[in-house]
Amino acid sequence: MLELHQVHKTYATPQGPLKVLEDVSLRLAAGQSLALMGESGSGKSTLLHLAAGIDLPDQGAITLEDQNVASLAEPARAKLRREQLGLVFQQFHLVPSLTVIDNLRLQARLAKRDDADWSGYLIERLGLTGMEKRYPEQLSGGQQQRLAIGRALAPRPSLLLADEPTGNLDETTAGKVLELLLSLVRETHCALLVVTHSPQVAAPLDRCLRLSHGRLLDAAP
Ligand code: ATP
Ligand code: MG
Repeated sequence: MLELHQVHKTYATPQGPLKVLEDVSLRLAAGQSLALMGESGSGKSTLLHLAAGIDLPDQGAITLEDQNVASLAEPARAKLRREQLGLVFQQFHLVPSLTVIDNLRLQARLAKRDDADWSGYLIERLGLTGMEKRYPEQLSGGQQQRLAIGRALAPRPSLLLADEPTGNLDETTAGKVLELLLSLVRETHCALLVVTHSPQVAAPLDRCLRLSHGRLLDAAP
């Protein structure tokens, strides 16, 4: 379902080329979960952006749901992202001018999969019942991240990519948000790739990999 095959990525910087990923291969099957760890600057977010087709590799193939992401033009990559992917970031990236329910349903509408029953169920599971008409600024950090998770799952994606999804939350809230994320992912049979610095986040996932000097290594959380 998601496969990176011999992926290389180098950035051009004022100091010259910066090699970030070297011969990186990984495979994530439907419904599997994977943690990606590694030092700051090791290329975790870069890998996630490549997997999402937000950026392109210099070499190698990235296959998402049988399509080679790297060979598609941006409009086709954007369509694939809308329909197959959920994205969650450390900053919540909610739309400030839309209410809770509209933030949630916007993503589903864009993917042409709006479903009032599913949205209602998600609101309940996210613990946001009664808050549907609030705006993001009227929510706590934990509530905002729960909404961001719901929004990512609203179109029923086959893969959720999360970049330090609990990085902006205190430990207790982070634990609860993670638990919710994992249970919703299991319920929807969605595959999950989580970039994290936290062994607690990585521990319950099926596998853990570590990026080090551009290479991907098997790791314990
Ligand atoms: P962190 O844990 O701090 O989020 P990371 O593992 O996610 O780090 P990346 O954001 O993937 O790291 O960055 C990897 C390296 O590539 C860093 O040295 C970064 O400065 C560099 N980098 C990232 N994006 C670009 C860019 N668009 N242009 C040039 N260099 C970049
Ligand atoms: Mg990062």
